[in-house]
Amino acid sequence: MISVAQALDHLFALVSPLPVEEVPLRQANGRVLGAEVCARRTQPPFDASAMDGYAVKGVEVERDALFKVVGEAAAGHGWSGTLRAGHAVRIFTGAPLPAGADHIVIQEDVTRRDDLITITADRGSQSHVRKAGIDFAEGDVVAAPRRLGAPEVALLAAMNVAVIPARRKPVVALISTGDELVVPGEAPGPDQIVASNTFGLAAMLERIGAEPRLLPIARDNPASVKMALDLAAKSDLIVTIGGASVGDHDIVADVAEDHGLDQSFYKIAMRPGKPLMAGKLGDTPMIGLPGNPVSALVCGTVFLAPVIRVMLGFPPAPTPRREMPLSTPLSANGPREHYMRGISDQGAVRDAGPQDSSLLRVLAASNVLIVRPPHDVARDTGERVEIIDL
Ligand code: AMP
Ligand code: MG
Repeated sequence: MISVAQALDHLFALVSPLPVEEVPLRQANGRVLGAEVCARRTQPPFDASAMDGYAVKGVEVERDALFKVVGEAAAGHGWSGTLRAGHAVRIFTGAPLPAGADHIVIQEDVTRRDDLITITADRGSQSHVRKAGIDFAEGDVVAAPRRLGAPEVALLAAMNVAVIPARRKPVVALISTGDELVVPGEAPGPDQIVASNTFGLAAMLERIGAEPRLLPIARDNPASVKMALDLAAKSDLIVTIGGASVGDHDIVADVAEDHGLDQSFYKIAMRPGKPLMAGKLGDTPMIGLPGNPVSALVCGTVFLAPVIRVMLGFPPAPTPRREMPLSTPLSANGPREHYMRGISDQGAVRDAGPQDSSLLRVLAASNVLIVRPPHDVARDTGERVEIIDL
């Protein structure tokens, strides 16, 4: 048996980063920047007011000082003159600071009569001026790879970057296998169940920036599996679910091999999860996940997500873990690394109940996996364990 880390290294060897394509900014959310991007302008482009008030010369500001208001500057409409001693310009947030001014007296700190203002407070330490370029300067770099969310999209917009270089989304063909499966919404026969794995994996893949394609369920016969693999041939990654162990009806490996799969099996020292099948079908990498729903989603988190990240241009790395204290004790672990379904709540974590690998309700009640090393001793409340966020 090999470790999870060794299995991951085998999988990383099967994939490489996808090409970069141009994507309009409105479609950039969730995408991964494929090349660094430079700001096309400086922000703010001019010294700007951060408050509503009066622009003046800071050295003249003191309580009871009197100024003459000689003009107005609003956002989008600067004041074109040059401020002289004893003068003030009415100014609003976002307006360019007039030449000659270096300080804003906020409007709460003045009284006004006609075009005269009197300062009613002591000069504060803040000038309320946003210096040009305080946010970013033209040429400043947003480095790649980087997953783009709301803040990054806003930053790129402010940089006037309307089209971004993004890694192409990995198209992942998902193939459920089994005579017992129907798709949700269909009426299962007496011996049938509803396929769940592909739907869960599709949701996970979408969240991490891939483009899942659900293929028709393959039946447990060579012709049906072959047809599914044919349909999947043009994808960037083929993921089969189930049919990959050693039962009489587990034919995925044989069919894939007949199809030219350069196949590797990894018996991995982990729970849940059966041997993982992986290889290349022509140029297309293929991963066979276990059929049990929780195993499939755990293997999706532990193996599939890091593989997708490599395809999106990130360096190969396992799914991140962090430490948390236990809120209930855990019994000793066996010889395999155990990914327990757990609930993290108020800074502590506990197991989520029965750990059978078919229990989706327990998985759905969980928000973390608690990772137990092989042969981990019993752990007490308060001891720290490693977790993976779901
Ligand atoms: P297998 O690996 O094909 O032997 O499947 C192991 C278990 O997982 C069996 O109980 C299957 O019925 C179940 N299973 C396989 N594929 C799926 C799927 N896509 N959705 C839900 N359960 C599945
Ligand atoms: Mg099966």
